[in-house]
Amino acid sequence: MVNTERLIDLFKELVSIDSPSLHERQMCDALKSKLKGLGIEASEDDTGAKIGGNSGNLFAYIDGGLDEKPILFSAHMDTVMPAHGKKAIVHEDGKITSDGTTVLGSDDLAGVCAIIEALRVLKENGEKFRPVEVLFTVSEETHCAGASLAPFDKIKSKECYVFDLSGDIGVASNKAPTIISYTVTLHGRAAHAAFKPESGIHALKCAADIISKIRCGKYDGVTVNIGTINGGTATNVVAEHTVFTGEVRSFDDNLAQNKLNEIFDIVHAVADEYGAEVKIESETCVRAYDVDENHPVAARFRAACEKMGLKPEIVETYGGSDNNQFFPMGINGLVVSCGMNNCHSCDEYTTVGHLEKAAELALTLMRSRD
Ligand SMILES: [Zn+2]
Repeated sequence: MVNTERLIDLFKELVSIDSPSLHERQMCDALKSKLKGLGIEASEDDTGAKIGGNSGNLFAYIDGGLDEKPILFSAHMDTVMPAHGKKAIVHEDGKITSDGTTVLGSDDLAGVCAIIEALRVLKENGEKFRPVEVLFTVSEETHCAGASLAPFDKIKSKECYVFDLSGDIGVASNKAPTIISYTVTLHGRAAHAAFKPESGIHALKCAADIISKIRCGKYDGVTVNIGTINGGTATNVVAEHTVFTGEVRSFDDNLAQNKLNEIFDIVHAVADEYGAEVKIESETCVRAYDVDENHPVAARFRAACEKMGLKPEIVETYGGSDNNQFFPMGINGLVVSCGMNNCHSCDEYTTVGHLEKAAELALTLMRSRD
């Protein structure tokens, strides 16, 4: 069974390693050596160089001796900021927090620890298990940049479990949206706001008009947001320059693209009225996927939960994850809850119980037979 003390020690040790996106070097080295300690040779790809980071994705194939299809277990090595000098404080009631000045990093070290502890149990028992592929990615928090360049030529699995979801253990997500971010740059003409306002083209007013016409919120199968706006130079100057950013999400890739085009039509129409120049940039961060709830990968997850006495629940999530990158490569996967709460904040926490259960879930899935 899961060794709780060993698991918590590992969690504390990994939390103490700084590993913000693009700076996963030390984390990658630590995980490589943990795997090596289990007799597992992991290889690092060249993703770091491609994305301007100092570490690649770490991948390993482990033949557990059972004649079964391999399954990919994945988690990401990076954390969001503030992430320097993190430490895990284990409270008497089993809650684990940071010291309040940084994130904890249970997103996604809870997932990393679950996978490593499961392998440790299997190896120390000398038991046979199904072929397992492990992928620890870099830069998940920057729109899954690492996973998009994962070594898909080496990965044999057609199914995966991405340990990277908040919520109770037993919850998994089979569906996530397309996420498109956009930036609109408006260039007008500066003028003194009192001496000669009529000779200016007001980029800030133009942006305000555009934004007032873009409906935000959740409707018609999409979510739309304006996230930031920056422009103008002084109270007495007709603003020459304004930039605003936003995003669109939808479980239907076409709906997301159509909504984006609608937004761009509004931008062009209003900018033309003002005579402002427009530059629009957009980036499809991740594409939507939808894994059938009755797919074997989901059935196996439900069976594993039931074996552990957990009530499995398969849900949709509005967040992207590495799973969005695996799906187009022909890998059907679920994102599973692994013990992270209040992620991306200094109030982030996990519990000893959650970490134990997540490791047990990884173990049960690795032991599963089809
Ligand atoms: Zn995460």
